[in-house]
Amino acid sequence: MLPAQFEYHAPESLGDAIALLKQHGDEAKVLSGGHSLVPLMKLRFAAPAHIVDINGIPGLDYLKEENGVLKIGALVREADLETSDVVASKFPLILDTAKQIADPQVRNRATIAGNLAHGDPANDHPATMLALGAEVVIEGSGGERVLPVSELFVSTLTTALASDEIIKEVRVPVPPGKSGGAYLKIERRVGDFAIVAVAAQVTLDESGNIASAGIGLTNVAPVPVKATDAEASLAGKAPDEAALEEAGRLAAESCDPTTDNRAPAEYKRAMVKELTIRALRRAVERAQGGK
Ligand SMILES: Cc1cc2nc3c(=O)[nH]c(=O)nc-3n(C[C@H](O)[C@H](O)[C@H](O)COP(=O)(O)OP(=O)(O)OC[C@H]3O[C@@H](n4cnc5c(N)ncnc54)[C@H](O)[C@@H]3O)c2cc1C
Repeated sequence: MLPAQFEYHAPESLGDAIALLKQHGDEAKVLSGGHSLVPLMKLRFAAPAHIVDINGIPGLDYLKEENGVLKIGALVREADLETSDVVASKFPLILDTAKQIADPQVRNRATIAGNLAHGDPANDHPATMLALGAEVVIEGSGGERVLPVSELFVSTLTTALASDEIIKEVRVPVPPGKSGGAYLKIERRVGDFAIVAVAAQVTLDESGNIASAGIGLTNVAPVPVKATDAEASLAGKAPDEAALEEAGRLAAESCDPTTDNRAPAEYKRAMVKELTIRALRRAVERAQGGK
């Protein structure tokens, strides 16, 4: 199906983009990679009267480490993560995630900021960014604000972004030395959205116990889930099978899956438990220096 008619705007600065969003309010939508918005428009689930394409705005495609933070500009594509040295060396969780999203054609255009801004619990970056304790830098007509990703998701496809706000940067704290992460995803076929996926990030202390853990769940609730009880259960514990099993049990308790054409709810819940255990196991191995 063809999208409904819209007026296309191509601002050349963030200020101009925000002015257009303010002028047109709920009638306008930001376009970055277009790989979520355009399908919705073609299905007529979305029919914005104004499209504000931010791809022509210079200076938003940086991916860099600065003062202990990984900074991902609004126009960094998912594929850029796969070739980044800093991502490869310090963020195995992000690299795992990037490689499992869709296919290369989609990843060449889709942005990390758009993946978060879409507010889809089936998207993969939300869980990963929840596990890593990331923040988004938001610019709007009222100025700039910084929001933890844990406060971004309101309900399915709805975020805390106002209609005149743009995510201009995603900030991820660089994990300390003995850290590791992993993303495990079950999908019907390669490139599909997750039936269930789990992001796990751990940091070990000097004695090899778990100093802190982050766990995010994909596609098992109306919003991406931060499994806080499971995270808290790991703090201070030796990373043995009993601790990982308990975290898996708590993660499964924290989700709220529905039965759909991908799988029954009970299967999804069981897979949250199993994937949490396996992702934590791999994250711990990586924190201990393994690949
Ligand atoms: C065939 C296919 C398979 C896919 N498989 C997966 C998958 O397995 N996992 C996965 O995670 N994703 C998947 N995707 C989705 C893809 O990764 C999306 O493109 C991505 O989620 C959205 O990023 P985008 O840059 O394309 O955003 P767009 O489609 O341009 O925008 C999406 C939404 O976010 C808003 N928006 C975009 N950028 C910003 C910004 N900087 N600030 C504020 N609002 C903004 C838009 O207004 C819109 O509402 C798939 C897509 C396709 C077409």
